[in-house]
Amino acid sequence: MNTHEYQAKAILEKYGVKVPPSRVVTSMDEARKAVEEMNFDQAVVKVQVHAGGRGKAGGVKLAKSRDEILEHTKNMLGMKIVNNQTGPEGVVSHKVMIAELTDISKEYYVGAIIDRHSASASLIISPEGGMEIEEIAETMPERIKTLRIGNDGSLKGYQLLQVAKFMGWKGDTAKQGKKMVAALAKAFIETDASLLEINPLVETPDGEIIAVDAKLSIDPNALFRQKELSSYYDETQIPSNEAQANKHDLAYIALDGDIGCMVNGAGLAMSTMDIIQYAGGKPANFLDVGGSADVEKVTEGFKIILSDPNVKAILVNIFGGIMNCATIGTAVVAAVKELGLQVPLVVRMEGTNVEKGKEILAESNLNINVADGLADAAEKVVEARNQQA
Ligand code: GDP
Ligand code: MG
Repeated sequence: MNTHEYQAKAILEKYGVKVPPSRVVTSMDEARKAVEEMNFDQAVVKVQVHAGGRGKAGGVKLAKSRDEILEHTKNMLGMKIVNNQTGPEGVVSHKVMIAELTDISKEYYVGAIIDRHSASASLIISPEGGMEIEEIAETMPERIKTLRIGNDGSLKGYQLLQVAKFMGWKGDTAKQGKKMVAALAKAFIETDASLLEINPLVETPDGEIIAVDAKLSIDPNALFRQKELSSYYDETQIPSNEAQANKHDLAYIALDGDIGCMVNGAGLAMSTMDIIQYAGGKPANFLDVGGSADVEKVTEGFKIILSDPNVKAILVNIFGGIMNCATIGTAVVAAVKELGLQVPLVVRMEGTNVEKGKEILAESNLNINVADGLADAAEKVVEARNQQA
């Protein structure tokens, strides 16, 4: 789950990272009040969206007067940012940050991620800040260093010395920089983050180290124990069908094919997508209704699949383990009746109470194509799709 810059900065600040004083506003009234109260005569004005690369997209502006601050704020309230991090739909900024302008003499990169190769949290640092880390990795990989973060979020003394040396920090700057990096590592672990990034971390002409930007993504599986962070969930920042899926506890990922898939269990979803490809089709999505699908979930699942205009046929592939096939059969029939499904539907079920489940589908008198086995299901749905095209 992504968060906004202002939220990430508030967390970093709690851990002792220095950030520029700022206000977040949602209207011009609030903006005027903020400028007044903060006594800003110049500021940096920034869209608050769940995406980086805002600067290049016109979502970060330096303002040299109050009028300029307010003008940029006005332009940015409701501004849509579209770049390689947002997808083609883009994301709209409903909030704008007005922050004290920082005098920058040098920009650095510091971040933390879960490194799957070493199966540990990793600190990533570079003296080349401001650019995206992917770009640095490509053009000057020797300017990036990674260090392992302890499971408790600690960095060893010698690691912090390595950080200071690699960044070129000396004296008091090194002292501050090491403190920031240690704080970032601790915050990363304690927030159950999958990514925590400060880009740029800057040095001012006075030798102060300040986090000018921040990005924090939380592992959604940890939200049950991150109550405060889970309240940062912002539906306005994710594609509408994904938000809808989250609301109903469905795992949905849009893909670029035209065969909609409704499956229970991620492993079965993967193999369903594989076998659709094998049969010559392309999946339009990955939708996992999980182990507790009921009429409501299945209906919502169909609605989400059908909200993709590319979908030309749907395959429902359910293994009744904990879930009973009769329940799924009833749910599919109810959903199809409610939605008046316009695209061909193939259903394959196996497992608990499968005979009853198939009976329910057959007796519904709806146009549901019941398949016999996974290969048959894939062939049937691809054939149905081809007849539509
Ligand atoms: P991003 O483009 O979404 O990563 O947004 P950032 O917050 O990183 O801002 C983009 C760029 O604007 C930064 O890399 C800085 O170079 C510049 N910038 C942001 N805040 C300030 C500031 O307070 N002072 C100055 N001089 N530049 C800033
Ligand atoms: Mg940045």
